Amino acid sequence: MAETRHFDIAIIGAGIAGSALAAALSNQNLAIALVEARPLALPDLPAARDLQNFDPRVSAITPRSKLLLEKLGAWEAIAGYRQCPYAHMTVWDAEGTGAIEFDCADVNAPALGYIVENRAIVNALLARVADCSDVVAFDGAQLQECSHVDDGAGIRVRLEDGTTLAADLLVAADGAVSRVREMMAFPTREWDYGHRAIVTTVQVEHWHRDTCWQRFLTTGPLAFLPLPGEGNSHYCSIVWSLQEELVDDMLALDKEAFCGALEHAFEARLGRVLDCAPRFAFPLRQRHAIDYVQPGIALVGDAAHTIHPLAGQGINLGLQDVGALAEEVLAGCARGLNPGQMAVLRRYQRRRKGENLLMMAAMDGFKALFEQQALPVRWLRNAGMRGVGRIGPLKQQLIRHAMGVG
Ligand SMILES: Cc1cc2nc3c(=O)[nH]c(=O)nc-3n(C[C@H](O)[C@H](O)[C@H](O)COP(=O)(O)OP(=O)(O)OC[C@H]3O[C@@H](n4cnc5c(N)ncnc54)[C@H](O)[C@@H]3O)c2cc1C
Repeated sequence: MAETRHFDIAIIGAGIAGSALAAALSNQNLAIALVEARPLALPDLPAARDLQNFDPRVSAITPRSKLLLEKLGAWEAIAGYRQCPYAHMTVWDAEGTGAIEFDCADVNAPALGYIVENRAIVNALLARVADCSDVVAFDGAQLQECSHVDDGAGIRVRLEDGTTLAADLLVAADGAVSRVREMMAFPTREWDYGHRAIVTTVQVEHWHRDTCWQRFLTTGPLAFLPLPGEGNSHYCSIVWSLQEELVDDMLALDKEAFCGALEHAFEARLGRVLDCAPRFAFPLRQRHAIDYVQPGIALVGDAAHTIHPLAGQGINLGLQDVGALAEEVLAGCARGLNPGQMAVLRRYQRRRKGENLLMMAAMDGFKALFEQQALPVRWLRNAGMRGVGRIGPLKQQLIRHAMGVG
């Protein structure tokens, strides 16, 4: 039988949350295992800016998350590759005349946020840990089983290839359909939005003006997110959240018809939609683990919570989980505590759960408000949008909250 390797911390999943946690805990005299189902070899990111060479998955990174990525030493590589700061946000609805504009000048900030390709974030974080001898990567390795060690001191993990690990703390950073969460029986509240999100990259006729655009249609919100262009070629990343029954038909359209449908749904605000990259669809579910921790285990990122992408907050909340968990683990170790002790983990949960729930409730409220078709709600919605647009302090507070600094 293969020998069990012991680590202080085993992180399952090297998406953005897991890679960020490995970077945050590296060089701290902790032995860390980073387990990832995919190969972790860093691919050369394509330099060409055209439809074939943007990652279809992008994230709107808030200034607060950017600060954390800077602290982890990853932002320089991200920015050195490419990202698109956005200075404005325009939100409007399909039914009335309600519209609201946000501008970084309203809060004296250089940008409201940054659109970054997900693979650029993961690459930059993994590059930070690639040379750290205290982080051992087990890649191409699916988690098969995990359990509490009999005497209650730590967690045992078995990988599909038979490797066995033991750790004082097991961190589930294995995404929305977390196997750790399921195997360790963390109860969750979840419901289906009845929507899937179509994501793709499009080329548009006119420059996006460094603006995130979002239109609320009766069938779901549609976002055009700005990407860095090349000369007179202008690109946006699309997140089109649509009622489930409409998605397959939209995916089946040929490119020209899809571009036409998108242009129409977007009221051609950036002129013609000239071309699009392959389309992918993601089911949208709201999930929230009732507890993020149990002895020896912590959930972070999408393993703890998933949220509708309409406000681009999912990984921003996940990165704040990572920052808080890393701080509590390091503070606990400095006090001589084991990182898997509840005294350490409860502090993490206390710091994160309330904030995550608040954001999830706010996003659901926003979504519900925009989906209501009743006339009085539509009137209130439009009046409310105009009101918010005029009331300086309220608008500033909304902007700061979305930037993660409110
Ligand atoms: C359409 C769409 C648009 C979005 N836009 C934004 C946005 O603009 N801004 C924002 O903040 N958020 C956004 N989000 C949310 C964001 O993408 C997620 O919150 C984020 O990707 C979650 O990161 P994570 O590291 O927690 O999980 P994941 O990215 O899911 O990573 C989990 C990792 O674990 C690995 N793994 C899984 N199971 C196992 C296993 N059994 N063994 C080993 N490894 C395993 C996976 O291979 C993967 O690498 C969006 C989401 C969607 C669907």
